[in-house]
Amino acid sequence: MVVIGSINMDVVVTVERMPLPGETVAGGSVHQIPGGKGANQAVAARRLGAPTALVGAVGADGFGAVLAGFLGAERIDTSLVRMEHGPSGTALITVANGGENTVIVVAGANGSVSPARVAEATIRAGDVLLLQDEIPGETNEAAARAARAVGARTVLNLAPFRAPSPGLLAATDVLIVNETEFAELVEAPRADAAAIAERLRAELTACNGQPVGDVVVTLGAQGALARIGGEVLALPGRRGPVVDTTGAGDCFCGAFGASLAAGLPATAALERANAAAGLAVGRFGAGPAMPTATEVDAALS
Ligand code: ATP
Repeated sequence: MVVIGSINMDVVVTVERMPLPGETVAGGSVHQIPGGKGANQAVAARRLGAPTALVGAVGADGFGAVLAGFLGAERIDTSLVRMEHGPSGTALITVANGGENTVIVVAGANGSVSPARVAEATIRAGDVLLLQDEIPGETNEAAARAARAVGARTVLNLAPFRAPSPGLLAATDVLIVNETEFAELVEAPRADAAAIAERLRAELTACNGQPVGDVVVTLGAQGALARIGGEVLALPGRRGPVVDTTGAGDCFCGAFGASLAAGLPATAALERANAAAGLAVGRFGAGPAMPTATEVDAALS
């Protein structure tokens, strides 16, 4: 499996409640945790057993060395993670009691992941290419087109949301969005699960007028809804303790991609993704919270 995407250092502060604009509150603790949607999804996929290569960049700063070391220790192929001049991608994350979070992302070295980098990746027929939206949009489009050209499948997590180019959407096999991103994608007000399911049963077009095919909408504690091959299915949220929802969506996407790469049909891959993400929200952090294949198997049995 190949992931082309962002690598960030997450600087995470815990608070009892979110500050209001202009207000100062005392933080409980501060942690530096490897993150970034590309890295998180690569970790989720690798822990689920998929051999995973990550194409991306870190900065030539203290964070960059730590991030490269973390990814290597996760047994991800980092031969295409470059160290670029300037700062590493950095996310400032606040986590309140109950798991609610806010995130500010500075792209840093992730902005250097240009379309030219796609040619470095070895993407073969039958591979799964997993993309997110924290690197330049033209790189995602070049990568999806290249993967399609060799007969690989493409999974695009449109997060954080940017209107996808028609070319990117046309080269995407499965689109994964959360409720907010879905509303932006189809240019509709944010809706509840029943209204989203209704919408998935009808013809869908994206904000750029392009038809939308297979799509997964993650619904937080309510699980996920998907339209796969014209069928709409609902995956109920898994019950358990919620400590920190940071990276839940990344866990879902990485586990979904890994399960597809392992040869599971899309519906079984979705169940695995939902189970994996349900476990990840019970732990602190993003990358380090991703469950192993054994843990997911146990949760599903
Ligand atoms: P984030 O930005 O926090 O990573 P997201 O908004 O991209 O998350 P969500 O829809 O919140 O994505 O969550 C992704 C998946 O994680 C859900 O589909 C579900 O499987 C799991 N999940 C999230 N929150 C919970 C929860 N409170 N309880 C159980 N499962 C959850």
